[in-house]
Amino acid sequence: MKKPITWTPTQWSDWKWQQKNRIRTIEQLDEWIDVTPDEREAFRLTNSVFRMGITPYYASLMNQQDPLCPIRLQAVPKMSETKISNTDLADPLGEERYMVVPGLTHRYPDRALFYTNHNCAMYCRFCTRKRKVSNPKSMINKQAYAAIFDYLENHPEISDVIISGGDPLSLSNKRLAVIFDRLSQIKHIKYCRLGSRNLVTLPQRCTDSLSELLKTYQSRHLSIYFNTHFNCLEEATDEAWDACDRIASSGTPMNNQMVLLKGINDSTERVLELNQRLLQMRVKPYYMLQCDLAEGISHFRTSIATGLKIIKGLRGHVSGLASPHYILDAPGGGGKIPLSPNYIIDKEEDHLIFRNYQGEVYRYPESELELDELTPECLQARITALKSGAA
Ligand code: SF4
Repeated sequence: MKKPITWTPTQWSDWKWQQKNRIRTIEQLDEWIDVTPDEREAFRLTNSVFRMGITPYYASLMNQQDPLCPIRLQAVPKMSETKISNTDLADPLGEERYMVVPGLTHRYPDRALFYTNHNCAMYCRFCTRKRKVSNPKSMINKQAYAAIFDYLENHPEISDVIISGGDPLSLSNKRLAVIFDRLSQIKHIKYCRLGSRNLVTLPQRCTDSLSELLKTYQSRHLSIYFNTHFNCLEEATDEAWDACDRIASSGTPMNNQMVLLKGINDSTERVLELNQRLLQMRVKPYYMLQCDLAEGISHFRTSIATGLKIIKGLRGHVSGLASPHYILDAPGGGGKIPLSPNYIIDKEEDHLIFRNYQGEVYRYPESELELDELTPECLQARITALKSGAA
């Protein structure tokens, strides 16, 4: 039995203690799990590019012996990370291309993405921003914050700000209050989304005082949402549940953006068990994201056919609340494309023909004019896909 560092219950529930005692070296990792030669070599080769950082809390969820444990796969480097395929991209979502001032991406007309810092409680091995996350030197400074707020103020078309990073909850409550305060003063910003994985990797950070802070800034003028990132049932612990309770008590709605990851959640059963638990925790499964093309994460990628199969398995078999949108973020900054199994299978003169989740066929009247919008070519492609089983 491994003997990792010791702690008191007070220390364990203190998020600053958790952050300070993150597992950063292979010697520390040796104290928690039986590190495989693959993991040891991968740490040596990757740590200078994308550091390892695991909170004691998240490490306590890892299986000591099983290198394929879904928690361990997300936290500990593997040699597969050193393979860069020819379709991999350093900036898969084109975020730098649309960066209007340092630390702010403005790609969609009404939304802006604010990178508050580049620290995270844990560095997820599948991270889309590994090009800069975990590198403190790449972080923006106070002057950049001022330029960001100026830009937001001068762009009345922006009504929604995504507060991201890294992880914004790596900042102190005092710093967060400054951000919410400034956003509240900009009349055209109606809502903001706090994007944080701390509910999963460091639930101790979601304290009563954070909850109070969110409550303070929730108003009719500015609505705050909490977007988080549970990927598997093993992450939905009692501690995470308690943290969700604290956030829910501030009146902040929580949404989950799960990334589809091979060996972690790539089956209907795995997604279903997670999403049902999340609903109990008052977190709405919002997106199921196709794994993007970030460098060195191809071992996590599933096919789109797998994703469609999962969505098809959920629809009709579970509450719509537990069925997320399946999204492909188009490489290079093309934006989000929803992916859905095909349910329209044919058209008649004044009807469309559908197949429901049980495979039964139904007809629904549709005017000729609107039917024409579904061109025969488009429909034929759908029917061909259905016959080949790709739907
Ligand atoms: S918390 Fe988000 S930004 Fe940070 S390493 Fe994980 S995926 Fe990347």
